[in-house]
Amino acid sequence: MKQEDCIFCKIASGEMNSITILENSEFKVMLDRFPATRGHVLIIPKEHVESIFEMEPEKAGRLFQLATQIAQVMKKELDMEGMNVLQNNGSCAGQTVFHFHLHLIPRYKEDEVTFKWKATEPTEEELLMIGNRIAAAL
Ligand code: AMP
Ligand code: ZN
Repeated sequence: MKQEDCIFCKIASGEMNSITILENSEFKVMLDRFPATRGHVLIIPKEHVESIFEMEPEKAGRLFQLATQIAQVMKKELDMEGMNVLQNNGSCAGQTVFHFHLHLIPRYKEDEVTFKWKATEPTEEELLMIGNRIAAAL
C-alpha cells in the first residue's frame, strides 16, 4: 500500500522524479539524489515496506538477485575499485527514509566514505548463547 508521506512511494509511482536505471513490476533501480560516491544506486520495492523486518524473504531474494546483476554492470561501466552493499533499518542504524532500500555504493581509492566500528570482545560463552538463541527460534 502506498503511504501518503513517503518519498520513495512517490518515486515508485512516478509522482516524484528520479533518475531511473531499471524498473520492473516489483522494483525500481535509481541513482541516489545525494550520492556518497559517483554512481551511488538505490534499489527500492515499489510496494511500501518500511524495513527488512517487514520484507518478504522471497522478495528480498529477487531484489538481491537484481542487485547482483546491477553491481556487475556497474563494475564494468564505472571505474570503481570496489563496492559496499548497505541496507539500513531503523533510525539508530542510520535509516532516514522509511521505505526499504538497498544501497550500492561504488568505492574509489580516494573517496571519503567510512563504515568503521570498534570491534567488541564477547566471551565464547556469550557468543554461543546468542547463536543458540537465534538458531532455536528459526
Ligand atoms: P538511508 O539513510 O539508508 O535511509 O538512505 C536514504 C537515502 O535516500 C540517502 O542516501 C539519500 O541521499 C537518498 N535520497 C533522499 N531523497 C532522495 C530522492 N528524492 N531521490 C533519490 N534518493 C534520495
Ligand atoms: Zn513508501
